[in-house]
Parts: sequence; C-alpha cells; structure tokens
Amino acid sequence: MDKDWAEKNKEIQNLLSKEATFGAAIEKLIEFREELFQQITWIVEGYPEKAFYQLPFAGAKGYHSKTLAYSIWHIFRIEDIVAHEMIAEDGQILFREKYLKKIASPIITTGNELEGKEIADFSKKLKVQELYLYAKAVKESSDKILLQLEYKGLKRRFNEDTKQKLIESKCISEDENAFWLIDYWCGKDIKGLIQMPFSRHWIMHIEAMRRIKNRLCKIARKGADPAAICGLSCNHCFLGEWCGGCRTEYNTCSFATCSEGRICPNVKCCNEKNIDGCYECGELEACEKGFFMPSNDGANAAKAQSLYIRKYGKKEFRNVQTRLHEKYEFEKVQEILGQDYKEALRILEEN
Ligand code: SF4
Ligand code: SF4
Repeated sequence: MDKDWAEKNKEIQNLLSKEATFGAAIEKLIEFREELFQQITWIVEGYPEKAFYQLPFAGAKGYHSKTLAYSIWHIFRIEDIVAHEMIAEDGQILFREKYLKKIASPIITTGNELEGKEIADFSKKLKVQELYLYAKAVKESSDKILLQLEYKGLKRRFNEDTKQKLIESKCISEDENAFWLIDYWCGKDIKGLIQMPFSRHWIMHIEAMRRIKNRLCKIARKGADPAAICGLSCNHCFLGEWCGGCRTEYNTCSFATCSEGRICPNVKCCNEKNIDGCYECGELEACEKGFFMPSNDGANAAKAQSLYIRKYGKKEFRNVQTRLHEKYEFEKVQEILGQDYKEALRILEEN
C-alpha cells in the first residue's frame, strides 16, 4: 500500500477509536477521501475513452487485474449500497438520481461476479463521464452521512432484515464471488464499515487504478518519439507515470488537459503547420503560444530545448538530457534552464 496513504489511514483508524477524537477522525477521513478522489478525477480528465476498458494486467491476481471503469463502478456501487441500504436506509443514488440509465450499465451489482473479458466488455458499455458524476454524487452523499454519525452509533449492528433487504435488492450477485459480501457487511458494525468500504477499499482500488494507468502510459510510449512537440523530453519528464507523451492519445501534459479538445496549443499549431515540432518553426524565438506563454515557469527551458534540437538534432538532445538528469532531479534541471532561454541553450551546449 502507498506509504503515505497507509499512514493516513492508520491515523484515522486510531482517531476513530476514541470518543474525544471521533470528530477529528471524520474530518480527516473526509479530507483523505477528497485526496484519493482527486486521483480518479485526474484519470477521468486525462485519459482517452479507450483507456477505461483496457486490461493491461489481464490474468493477473489482484485489484490491478481490472479496468479503470470497472474500478470506479465497483468502488462506488459498494459504497452506495452500504451507505444507503444499510447505514442511512434512504435509497441508493444509482436509482434515486437515475444514474443507471445515464451510465448505460447493463448490471446493477457490484461487479464482483465478473472476470477477465467480461470486465472489459462491461467496461466498454459504460459512459465514463456519467460514471464519474455518479461516483462524485455517491462520495458527496457518503460524506454527509459520515458527518451525521455519532460516536455512540459506531457499534450499531445489522440484523436479518438488513440481510434480506440486501438479497432482495439484487444489487449483489448470487455468484459465489459476490454473495459473500452480504454476510461480510452484515457481520460488521458501522465502525467496521467505515474502515472498509469508505476508506481501505478505496485505497486498494485507487492504488490499482494508478498501476493500470501507469502501465497504459508505458505501453503508449513504446515506439513513440520521446521528444515532446514543445521541446521537452518525455523520457525525463516528472509526469512520466501520468503522461504517455504528447504524440500519443495518453497526453496528460498540463497544456493539453486544460485546452479545448484536450489538444495542447503547441501540438495544434505544429499540426496546422505540418511540422514535427516547434524546433522546426521559424517563429520559435518570439513564440508565446501554449507552453511558451511567458507566465509559464517552464517556457524558457522548453524553448531552449527546442532550439537545441534545431541545432544538434534529437539524438544529441536525448544524450544531453540524460547527462543533465544524471546530475540533477527533473525540477532542478527545469530550474537551471528556466531563467533565460539563450542562457539555457548555452548551459545545454556546455553539458
Ligand atoms: S508532460 Fe509533456 S514532456 Fe512530460 S511526458 Fe507528457 S508530453 Fe512529454
Ligand atoms: S508558432 Fe509557436 S507553437 Fe506554433 S509551431 Fe511555431 S513555435 Fe510552435
């Protein structure tokens, strides 16, 4: 488990055990859930549709053997069922807010019964943006439920009626890989439920989602030109685990994700000029588009690197980048090259 997330989770579980710190535990849990949810937001905002139904670890054992879409569905179906059928008893968000139709899901269950290709086929049918909105709605409603909980209510347990209600809801498949969930949840008190569907279950699946997207980016990068269109080096970029590079569909470079149609202005401009990159452009020195915007901290470094490619070619550019990154961390290299592009070009030439 991610060390930082494991520590945060441990701290929350400890605070949850005492009445005096119960309020702080809930506050920290909500904050932590927000942090974890941000990972899902970045993935949904950054990746193309097809990323959500790929199984880059098909056949593996573990949470990472699923797809991105399945992981989101599964985390929030479980939370929706537990939060609204068991704790609040006020009806699931999936039905109340008509998300089933909006997401176009063929199932209402948690998905535990699906395996391998079934997971990929199921994921392909889902409307990811709606799925994301569903996840967000479930999270927000669960946060409200968490805020209303009282310490003395943590020991509340569930009886046969709850079990029966869960069975009748048909939200848990009768498949042996899923049906055990009913006994598992009903064997816990509210505190036990907070410790699993509302926190640890998130961590395990979101961590797996990070592995899935890292792998997808790695696959996308294979064979792609590592010289970014603006002149940065994708092979040395700190966003390597998040971005497949701007010549692939897995481009999550900041200027791509915040631009219309998720196309970086420099990529768009180069495509319009039918050139390989900004290093082939006669307007490079004076350009203030996209990554070269004066307010962008990385503008000078990128411009200097583009100029270097123009003068010495991509092979020598890759070599100088490797030499620089052997000496310094990515941020330091960007800082060294970030002052003035002419000076930065000189530094590159000296290395
Ligand atoms: S953020 Fe830019 S430089 Fe970094 S990997 Fe993505 S495209 Fe390449
Ligand atoms: S005008 Fe600017 S963004 Fe467009 S190709 Fe030239 S250097 Fe790149």
